[in-house]
Amino acid sequence: MRRLKAGAVSQFINGKVCESTTNERSRVIDPSNGATVAEVSLAGSDEVKLAVQAAQDAFPAWSRATPAERSAVLARFAAVLEEHAEELAQLETRQAGKPIRLTREFDVPGTIDNTAFFAGAARNLEGKATAEYSADHTSSIRREAIGVIGSISPWNYPLQMAAWKILPAIAAGNTIVLKPAEITPLTSVAFAEAATEAGLPDGVVNVITGRGSTVGAELMRHPDVAMLSFTGSTRVGRSVLEAAATTAKRVHLELGGKAPFVVFDDADLEAAIHGAVAGSLINSGQDCTAATRAIVHRSLYEDFIDGVAELYGRVRLGPTMDPATDMGPLVSMKHRDEVAGMVERARGYARVIGGGTPEGELAAGSYYRPTLVADAAPESEIFRDEVFGPVLAVTPFEDDDEALALANDTPYGLAASAWTKDVYRALRATREIRSGCVWINDHIPIISEMPHGGMKQSGFGKDMSTYSFDEYTAVKHVMYDLTAQKAKAWHRTVFSLEGQQ
Ligand code: NAD
Repeated sequence: MRRLKAGAVSQFINGKVCESTTNERSRVIDPSNGATVAEVSLAGSDEVKLAVQAAQDAFPAWSRATPAERSAVLARFAAVLEEHAEELAQLETRQAGKPIRLTREFDVPGTIDNTAFFAGAARNLEGKATAEYSADHTSSIRREAIGVIGSISPWNYPLQMAAWKILPAIAAGNTIVLKPAEITPLTSVAFAEAATEAGLPDGVVNVITGRGSTVGAELMRHPDVAMLSFTGSTRVGRSVLEAAATTAKRVHLELGGKAPFVVFDDADLEAAIHGAVAGSLINSGQDCTAATRAIVHRSLYEDFIDGVAELYGRVRLGPTMDPATDMGPLVSMKHRDEVAGMVERARGYARVIGGGTPEGELAAGSYYRPTLVADAAPESEIFRDEVFGPVLAVTPFEDDDEALALANDTPYGLAASAWTKDVYRALRATREIRSGCVWINDHIPIISEMPHGGMKQSGFGKDMSTYSFDEYTAVKHVMYDLTAQKAKAWHRTVFSLEGQQ
């Protein structure tokens, strides 16, 4: 992973680093202090074509490799990532503004575990039993790779999102072209380089670094791309669906979220307060599953607000490379200003506690303080729209029906949590809340063996786990005749042979 140490980042196509033909460059900025981390040469049309061609050329051999061969490469890949764990953590921290504790203890170990998981999963593609479902035939299922996957990822978890897109795709025998977010491309390129170092054949994974509206859109429309897998906003997700229509491509969408955090009157209040603080501030709230709408029973409402506000006040903003720092900046000044704008507007209709930008040495970074917005009406902007920052809106409820109706009153359906000691309430919440994940008495944890993905306008399809193979494989039915008859019994429905010798 040579590029981890170098200043300039290029394309990674066909197992090699190459400069783009555009001569266009952009800078990757450390959000914690505004310093330049690297210069990136931006891809253009030529790089899209070259990368898709490389992926297409690599597809026949890689899709025919045995599961054991693919598994062996992925196992070595996990080991290479482990060797580079600290470099990856530091690079992710610098490009995305994440506290080093988060990248060391969550982003990088999560990515390594995911890689190790898919090394095993590559040998476990499943289908229905081969059997005589008709007396005259044997039916079997083949699960086949789809082809070249065109993938686009966001900036909030650049390394993990690259891993979530690349690993199931290649474990199932596909090849891939990934375009990471233009402001955070470094660890995606490093991830692809590590795969090559582990022995992945050239062309199986390609990374092009460029703008979404140009190279991203072109990749999505490329006729030789068989499937689109996208993680990002619901707005761009809609344009991915339109692009898919051009050649009827398969689509996998992981989009925005606005997770409800429902605290029933029998909840362990202290646990709920801790859960709300961790669940809303992880990655500075730039997490599609982050707790964003606390729906709290009236009897606990003010105590919940006091408890969260008190703990928010103790969260330490600081330099991202300092292991004592709890929360880092937002990803950019532009994004920080958007978050601040939503909070400012909320002051006009709700009770805002905290918020604002810190002074002093942190002023050069895009920091924003944890913010509680109490008494936010369910129809207000702060309660309905994705903020993607360290902001938790809170509203009270009177009875369980109202709480669950509020939880579901959103176009999103990615994740949710319910806090209660009553098993029947917990069961009801898991059944009735329409989202891809419901936690009981916790909020945020993910695990490689279990799927991640949304309902409603949070998208469709699953990342992680063996469920992701449903996205990245095509199921083929193969039917063998067992009768060896020249005229089969069923032919009578089309023509009659009666009277013939
Ligand atoms: P975004 O939609 O603005 O950008 C995502 C990616 O799409 C980037 O790589 C960008 O360059 C590219 N892009 C932009 N316009 C494009 C176009 N016209 N055609 C093709 N590609 C284009 O999202 P973001 O701001 O990078 O990330 C934040 C969003 O991602 C939030 O909405 C968040 O909820 C969502 N997200 C969802 C999940 C999930 O698993 N559901 C995970 C992480 C982030």
